[in-house]
Amino acid sequence: MAAIELRRLTKVYPGGVKALDALDLVIPDGEFFALLGPSGCGKTTLLRTIAGLETATGGAVVIGDRDVTSVQPGGRDIAMVFQDYALFPHMDVTDNVAYPLRIKKVAKAERHRRAGEVAARLGLERLMDRRPGQLSGGQQQRVALARVMATQAQAFLFDEPLSNLDARLRLEARTFLKKLQRELGVTTVFVTHDQAEALAMADRMAVMEAGVIRQIGTPAEVFQRPANTFVAGFIGSTPMNLLDAVVRGDTLEVAGCAVPVPDAAAGLLADGEKVVYGVRPEYNAYAPKPADGSSEGALAGKVVIVENLGASHLVTLDVNDVTVQAVVPEGSEPAVGDEGFAAPRRDRALVYRDG
Ligand code: ADP
Ligand code: MG
Repeated sequence: MAAIELRRLTKVYPGGVKALDALDLVIPDGEFFALLGPSGCGKTTLLRTIAGLETATGGAVVIGDRDVTSVQPGGRDIAMVFQDYALFPHMDVTDNVAYPLRIKKVAKAERHRRAGEVAARLGLERLMDRRPGQLSGGQQQRVALARVMATQAQAFLFDEPLSNLDARLRLEARTFLKKLQRELGVTTVFVTHDQAEALAMADRMAVMEAGVIRQIGTPAEVFQRPANTFVAGFIGSTPMNLLDAVVRGDTLEVAGCAVPVPDAAAGLLADGEKVVYGVRPEYNAYAPKPADGSSEGALAGKVVIVENLGASHLVTLDVNDVTVQAVVPEGSEPAVGDEGFAAPRRDRALVYRDG
């Protein structure tokens, strides 16, 4: 087991696409690290470059205390699970799981013993003679995991391994995989485009955009304090409200209303400055318009959409032609056409200058 360190790692593909742009990253030994970002931002390239399946155009990959930048994939002692599992269709489960051991020239009896041991941990013992075509998606996924585990590599790389599973199986696999990683303690880089998956599974995570890392932190840090509007817009099961604002003393003018400057920005803003005001719908308290019509510190508007989220509702308000969303607990949701207020929580709202 080993730490992974990337130093100014750069990958420019022939044709000129810069998929990784001088990326610095340190993943300590034993960490479950999630790499999150939209399609095309360079996640797969990053994993393949760590594994040695792509050659870096600049910078270095260090695994443990060894610079492996020019080492072939086989010499890096790293195991990777691909999005499509990449199982061999003509081999049964035993041979698929034992394949990396065969490459390492482990004797047949020993590699079958190890394959059987790992497969049993993953509940595959009754499927050992089947071929991938005779397995469900979830079973194939477990075979791919077993193959990685059997290698006893220094680090595991996962490229969106759950994206082919249906919603329910995906949730089960998430818990299962996390538990397994804890038990094994192997340094793991887990790539996903699903923010919920990253938040749920990671010890720490990075959010990537166009070949650069826009934020690194624990899931709680990234969720509570997104570093910029890109991360703010990407994280969260309902998107953060990001609203144009102008500083007016100790209030912000937002959508024609006045809201208090958030605690996080107190003393940091200049009067008249143009900023972006951010508040998650979960921290935006909705209330019906009171009889006296007062709306101090809140965004007053009209309800245009009410969406059922299960245990809560997402309410969309039109506030002087600006769209503002709030999450409302079950039972207190308004009706379309109602007049109401969204009062952002001062201790949770944020201000950005990069909008
Ligand atoms: P992600 O996994 O985040 O979707 P990729 O790492 O696959 O992103 O791709 C990053 C960028 O590099 C994209 O613009 C993609 O089109 C480009 N790219 C990926 N692989 C190649 C390749 N083999 N040749 C040229 N460009 C590539
Ligand atoms: Mg990819």
